Amino acid sequence: MSKSQEAFVARYIAVVGAGLAGAVLAHELHQAGHRVEVFEKSRGPGGRLSSKRHESVVAGLDMGAPALQAEEPGWLAQLEQWQQQGWVQPWLPRQGSWLAGEGVRLIAGQRQWVGVPSMHTPVKALLADIPVQRGVRIEKLEAHRQHITPVDAVRSYGQFDFVALAVPAPQAEPLLVHSPSLLEFARQVQPDPCWVSAIQLQQPGLDWPLDWVDLQGHPQLTRVVRHTAKPGRQQESEVWVLYANRRWSLEHLQADKAWVAEQMAQALAELVGQSLSWQALQSHRWLYARLQAQGSVPAFFDYQRRIALCADWLGGTGAQGAWRSGMACARSMLAALGRKDGV
Ligand SMILES: Cc1cc2nc3c(=O)[nH]c(=O)nc-3n(C[C@H](O)[C@H](O)[C@H](O)COP(=O)(O)OP(=O)(O)OC[C@H]3O[C@@H](n4cnc5c(N)ncnc54)[C@H](O)[C@@H]3O)c2cc1C
Repeated sequence: MSKSQEAFVARYIAVVGAGLAGAVLAHELHQAGHRVEVFEKSRGPGGRLSSKRHESVVAGLDMGAPALQAEEPGWLAQLEQWQQQGWVQPWLPRQGSWLAGEGVRLIAGQRQWVGVPSMHTPVKALLADIPVQRGVRIEKLEAHRQHITPVDAVRSYGQFDFVALAVPAPQAEPLLVHSPSLLEFARQVQPDPCWVSAIQLQQPGLDWPLDWVDLQGHPQLTRVVRHTAKPGRQQESEVWVLYANRRWSLEHLQADKAWVAEQMAQALAELVGQSLSWQALQSHRWLYARLQAQGSVPAFFDYQRRIALCADWLGGTGAQGAWRSGMACARSMLAALGRKDGV
């Protein structure tokens, strides 16, 4: 008898991590008729697509991914569908590139996509009908014969049929102690930290014809983005978000936040050749900004051990990789567990 002909049994599935990969997986499982609960250590969903609240910045500050790029047709189709749902908008920034010894030059802009009003809008929307336990950091999984239980520092969270981990590799490690091969795989992933600073300028802002510049060989920066040029973020006082490169971020991993923000603001002033006066400066340190595994499997599902695994570091870098991994994980799980409608 094929899976679609068997009587459907709704399973109880925990998803750890409410980033894009976890949200895509949870949504697909929920749509297929399974009972899903999400656990997230932060105050809200979004992960590296989150926006930080800021009293004088409209719609929050995108301190993680500044925008999404689509190379894969499936991901592009997904973004276009989300655009119709009002969750994202396309954006064509005035784009430049900076090369050591050559300075800045204008390049043909690549179409980008941004969540509206915030980068985390699609993640929140995907989770709209699914219970999310916020502020809960799962620290271990207790495996039993008939079920598996996520546990944080204070308590355990019920008897699940399966647990899916949708977290960066270093954060998955303590949860993979019962799955030696997955643990070994996660251990090979090199974390890539990134300091990000936001600078809110005094009016009239920067006299510079670019909204987005990628830098190669710069001692400090890898990207600068005019945040207030993005759809849904316009306001009188201009805001720039600055991304430090891997090397500088690693060298200054333990530096003081205020010092980092000042250093990065100074680097922007030198880049544009103008002195800057600002109203507000802030910075955020990502320990795991970009991650990539050396494998070619976008997701894992171990039915016997009741564990699934998805995230950008399995699907390829960036949000596109997170989406691909979440979808691949859902396909594997649903092939084994079935769907309510059988298709
Ligand atoms: C500075 C920066 C710039 C970037 N720029 C781009 C870009 O231009 N384009 C692009 O496509 N991508 C970019 N990215 C990468 C992109 O944001 C990520 O690839 C994508 O958002 C990852 O999604 P994810 O679901 O795999 O992981 P995450 O977004 O990291 O989600 C994992 C979630 O799990 C939670 N979590 C972790 N451990 C636990 C635990 N034990 N218990 C409970 N919850 C837990 C975390 O809090 C987090 O919310 C950038 C990222 C950063 C930080």
